[in-house]
Amino acid sequence: MFKFLSKVSDYAKEAVQSARYIGQGMAVTFDHMSRRPITVQYPYEKLIPSERFRGRIHFEFDKCISCEVCVRVCPINLPVVDYFFNPELKKKELKSYSIDFGVCIFCGNCVEYCPTNCLSMTEEYDLSTYDRHELNFDNVALGRMPTKVTEDPMVKPIRELAYLPKGVMGGHDVPHTAKRAGKRPEEILEESNQPES
Ligand code: SF4
Ligand code: SF4
Repeated sequence: MFKFLSKVSDYAKEAVQSARYIGQGMAVTFDHMSRRPITVQYPYEKLIPSERFRGRIHFEFDKCISCEVCVRVCPINLPVVDYFFNPELKKKELKSYSIDFGVCIFCGNCVEYCPTNCLSMTEEYDLSTYDRHELNFDNVALGRMPTKVTEDPMVKPIRELAYLPKGVMGGHDVPHTAKRAGKRPEEILEESNQPES
């Protein structure tokens, strides 16, 4: 009997939890339904990408040890690591490295698993060309750091919709330097690690 009651209680708790999650999701949906569409005058205006945006990959040639882990973890074996074995030093030496962004799905696996952290994802998303072969970036192109949207003098940065304070309908209504709405993941983590008083 006790087992049965405990099962019912667990089930009720799960049902309440699920209803809460659905409610939270619907609240976001309704909040967005009340927003009017806004036009970002790209390329004169650009949305500020979120902190964890997965854009064009940056590569640091000197840090790469030609281990090819990035190739193995890539779902399409995309990175091309060209190296030779130096018998004097008894180690691999990198000749060239490339990633074709016309094929990359920006999953971030290569960045996650690289043992020397020589790969990172930038906020660059302007990757349009007339010829798709131009999206095959070699190590020189991959080594270039993009200009941040907030530091580009030619561009007006606009806050993303998700980061606007409650009641504000468009990014044009707040300065881009305004603190973003909501908490950063590290702030949430810090709060959850605080000892309860
Ligand atoms: S981001 Fe994903 S798809 Fe692109 S190169 Fe890295 S592992 Fe491959
Ligand atoms: S995983 Fe990192 S170190 Fe290894 S080949 Fe790829 S980029 Fe170079």
